[in-house]
Amino acid sequence: MLLEGKKGLIVGVANKRSIAWGIALGAHREGAKLAFTYQGERLKEPVTELANSLGGNPPLFDCDVTNDPQLDAVFQGVKEACGGLDFLVHAVAFAKREELEGEFLPTSREGFRLALDVSSYSLTALAQRAAPLMTEGGSIVAMTYYGAEKVIPRYNVMGVAKAALEASVRYLAYDLGPRKIRVNGLSSGPVQTLAARGISGFTDMMKVVEQKAPLRRNVELAEVANAAVFLLSPFSSGITGEVLYVDCGYHILGM
Ligand code: NAP
Repeated sequence: MLLEGKKGLIVGVANKRSIAWGIALGAHREGAKLAFTYQGERLKEPVTELANSLGGNPPLFDCDVTNDPQLDAVFQGVKEACGGLDFLVHAVAFAKREELEGEFLPTSREGFRLALDVSSYSLTALAQRAAPLMTEGGSIVAMTYYGAEKVIPRYNVMGVAKAALEASVRYLAYDLGPRKIRVNGLSSGPVQTLAARGISGFTDMMKVVEQKAPLRRNVELAEVANAAVFLLSPFSSGITGEVLYVDCGYHILGM
């Protein structure tokens, strides 16, 4: 029970395949009490159904991470429902479909702005509001990908957004360290999810990993979730500003 008595907010559940949901299951198993956000009315019912399957009617909040008044309302709601917060999981990203195929070169100004607003700035926007609730210290984990560091064809503007996300992890870790709040990135290998299906050639990415990664397979959602639980728990108390790879070793390769 690594998270016994801890209260956490999970941002980014769309369905049962979502990485955020995998992490929620892991955190619940380890004794955490959870609250969730969902993006818009469309996702209210499926996310409510999933959340309620954990028992105890977890608090749920409508949250588009680009909407500041809505973000304020979410954290006001978390304060009222939970009292405080021990951890936050950031698992949201978005880019226009046309920016995730072909070359990076034609990326539009609006596509760039949108991808970085939803996928990168949102971490800072959430951390600003979560930190005052983390009065006993806390842990923030953001989902990232290797395309932040190396060129992954067709990942394009999302790679730039993840680079900004990882830099934000480091700056937030520096600012929040004195308040005993740790901030880390978790870089997952490819996992079949709704967001992943928006990246053209995603299935090929999975095949390459299977052939080349040291473990000769793709990572499983439960493995990503277990690593997230570690980063959220006191077992990682000395780690902040880090990006932990959970990718069957793929990122160590030079060729
Ligand atoms: P997912 O299930 O589709 O989750 C993505 C979530 O982001 C969805 O709940 C989505 O809601 C939400 N979202 C998008 N725009 C939003 C906005 N403006 N406000 C609030 N929420 C918004 O896909 P996933 O693969 O689990 O993605 C979770 C995180 O893991 C992302 O940061 C992704 O980049 C990262 N990651 C994924 C992989 C992978 O291979 N799957 C690998 C490494 C890292 P809607 O469905 O309504 O858009």
